[in-house]
Amino acid sequence: MRPELKIEIRPYWENGTVSFIDYELRGQRIKASPDIPMFCRYDEAFGGLCPFPEMDYLEAGDDRGALCYREKEITSFNSGMRCFGYFPERAVEGTLSWRYRAYPRILPEGYRSSPYYDFRAEPGGLNGSGFFSLLLPATERELDVRLRWNMSSMPPGSRGIFSFGEGTVEKTMKVTELGISLFTVGMVRAVENDSLGVYYLSEPEFEIRPIAEKLFPIFQYEKNFFHDPDAKFKVFLRRDPFVISNGGSACRYAFLSGYSAFGGFDPEKWFNVLIHEMTHTWPYMDDSNVGEGTWFTEGATEYYCTWLPYVGGFLDDDFTVKCLNEKIGKRYYQNPFREMPNMEIPKIQWKERSAQECPYGRGFLYLANTDAQLRRAGKGSIDDIVKQFGWDRPMHPGDWKDFLRERLGQKAVDQFEEMIGGKLLEPDPDIFENRFQVVKDEIELNGQKVLSYHFETKK
Ligand SMILES: [Zn+2]
Repeated sequence: MRPELKIEIRPYWENGTVSFIDYELRGQRIKASPDIPMFCRYDEAFGGLCPFPEMDYLEAGDDRGALCYREKEITSFNSGMRCFGYFPERAVEGTLSWRYRAYPRILPEGYRSSPYYDFRAEPGGLNGSGFFSLLLPATERELDVRLRWNMSSMPPGSRGIFSFGEGTVEKTMKVTELGISLFTVGMVRAVENDSLGVYYLSEPEFEIRPIAEKLFPIFQYEKNFFHDPDAKFKVFLRRDPFVISNGGSACRYAFLSGYSAFGGFDPEKWFNVLIHEMTHTWPYMDDSNVGEGTWFTEGATEYYCTWLPYVGGFLDDDFTVKCLNEKIGKRYYQNPFREMPNMEIPKIQWKERSAQECPYGRGFLYLANTDAQLRRAGKGSIDDIVKQFGWDRPMHPGDWKDFLRERLGQKAVDQFEEMIGGKLLEPDPDIFENRFQVVKDEIELNGQKVLSYHFETKK
């Protein structure tokens, strides 16, 4: 029988927002002993930018009563965040339960950063992620999860919405899926249809509806393309108390997007962020060793969120060329880190934002080039492999190499290795099915004249 995990989440309302949340978790058949932690806290992710919330009143117990524990850092399954295990002083018997209170994050002075997985309140409510709100069992097995909101300390009409569902949710999933989920709770406002919703807590100064309505048909088209007819997607909005905002953090079927409380909102830019994050639902390569899969997960997301709305007829040549010059031109060709190897980038990417953007542009261009090679050789398309994998079944670099070897031979594998190593890519002569003009430029980068490219619409 599978282990079971019951989660009760009780938010408390005060002064027009959520002032803290009490969590109670009860696990059946979850193994824990002085050598196996009962649960874990994930902390200091993304180079310390994303902490676990401050908490109080942490208690654990089982059928025999209270459990004393010691806390110890253990190896994290993800190199991008630290993991602290809570080890009981004796073997656990029967139902293991633990409870604690978590407080919304108080942002450090001068803070202005995404990612948005942290636990933050704003007028109207609070939002965050699974990893940075839940103390999660240390098991790789699937769990039967039952998650319920206790809204007895919230105003009538409050909603509690997780990326995987609203209200009480029963779902079999792994701890990682629960961890990488997003949620919002409070007096939630919404623009939604059957499959896509935008959820926000404070009324922003821009109009959400026209942007959401532009997204509805594109999401529908992507669902069909990736053979995922039941997909539902949720956009959670967060109001940032700093000026530079408009970032986004994704999980499967949802993302959290920020806007600044000080205005300066750019609807076109936000629309682009939204399509990118929405498209994250599908292409996926394992990135547990951060850097190994980023070029693919981000690059393929860029590729499909630009290409599909274009070929589907939702966005025109002018719009798409602008995107290409932003996503390939600016993020790759004009990027001072354009020749930095993929595995070097994670070491500096949270300090150097342009380094962080490099794999997006590099991956996008590399995938578009590979697609052009495949089509020219009559060997299908990258779509063939991308659709075989996903968040449930992540692709690994080895799968990609096997695909290249089978369809295009060893030379394509060598080109892949060169891309990983940071060798400058040139656009394939048949890139994007020859629908756009590719123009060669010379630009100045790192104090040198170097080769660059941009795209134009065909006359
Ligand atoms: Zn992304």
